[in-house]
Amino acid sequence: MHLYNSLVRKKELFIPLNKNTVTLYVCGITPYDITHLGHAFTYLSFDILVRYLKYLGFKVIYTQNVTDINDRDKDILERARQQNMPWKKLAEVSTKKFLEDMRCLNWIMPTNYLKASESINSVIFFIKKLLANGFAYEVKGSVYLNIDKDRQYGKLSRLNQEKMLEIAKNFDEDLDNPDKKNSLDVTLWRAATPDQPEHIPSFASSFGKGRPGWHMECSAMSMSTLGEQIDIHGGGIDLLFPHHEAEIAQSEGATGKKPFVRYWMHTGNIFYRGEKMSKSKGNLVLVSSLLQKYTANALRWLLFSHHYRESWEFKEKELDKAEQTFARLAKLISQKRSSADNKILWQMFANAMNDNLDTPKTLLLIKNAAEKGDLHFAKTALQKLGFLL
Ligand code: ZN
Repeated sequence: MHLYNSLVRKKELFIPLNKNTVTLYVCGITPYDITHLGHAFTYLSFDILVRYLKYLGFKVIYTQNVTDINDRDKDILERARQQNMPWKKLAEVSTKKFLEDMRCLNWIMPTNYLKASESINSVIFFIKKLLANGFAYEVKGSVYLNIDKDRQYGKLSRLNQEKMLEIAKNFDEDLDNPDKKNSLDVTLWRAATPDQPEHIPSFASSFGKGRPGWHMECSAMSMSTLGEQIDIHGGGIDLLFPHHEAEIAQSEGATGKKPFVRYWMHTGNIFYRGEKMSKSKGNLVLVSSLLQKYTANALRWLLFSHHYRESWEFKEKELDKAEQTFARLAKLISQKRSSADNKILWQMFANAMNDNLDTPKTLLLIKNAAEKGDLHFAKTALQKLGFLL
């Protein structure tokens, strides 16, 4: 199988570190929102990857995190304050809703599904390693990653300092903090302050009370569950910088082992009404609303008819079309007519999926096969891709 690796910006033959086992980490949700189509596209794209790796005979160890606490004030803590709810409660309720929506979409749960708030010890252990290696420094109880110590910082995003600053600004990266040696230095641990509002929690550590940085959490949780080097790391394309760039610097700085990740995979954005789907634009299309009108199969069909790296615009009429297409397919498949298995079709299936998970091509192959009467192949292939039949 060939996968597009964002680090080298080309397709590469996929060879895992350990012969038969694949380690996968995918950045998870910040649990203050309801599942929208962008979430579904990302997490179902990795669902297809997991299913296909298993089809190829690999064992997959898959970790996904829940960012229920981080260093940012305007994030989950602010949402919880606005809703007059403890952050833990908001996180629990939102995570439950997310998992329920994803379960309806026939999503396979990751092997490890971890809350950042329950991974504080791994975070502290990790930060201590970075301090010991001279990649991090402590000021007034906060700890920062010194990005200038990493000569390769920027190797994933390949951005210059000016562009990095521009993007980091949108991510609430605390650029004006005078304690940082470089504005782009990553906050690994944010110290609690005496005037900290009551709704902001803090955790005990040897650097003093505080809370972990968002980027640090993913490095810590991936190492604690998957080891120092992993095969595949995924997430939405928005996370490439600063989040994934920071993860590389942190993980490689702490362990000295390179590469931290062998294959970086990023999913495209979904647009709606001309703009990227986001809470701030108010153009979210919620999975739970779509599921009231459409089947999970139709949603999966629509999402996989777009390649995972593609950014695309959601149009409801295309979902209508996907529903009709799938209903026609299901009707064909439900016929009692038996058909022999077709080795050539399975070879074509593998060729398409081996080419960086070309799901649009695979769906077309299945559809054509069903129309020509190769029903056994069509049914089995759809089941392998997680359709409910
Ligand atoms: Zn992450």
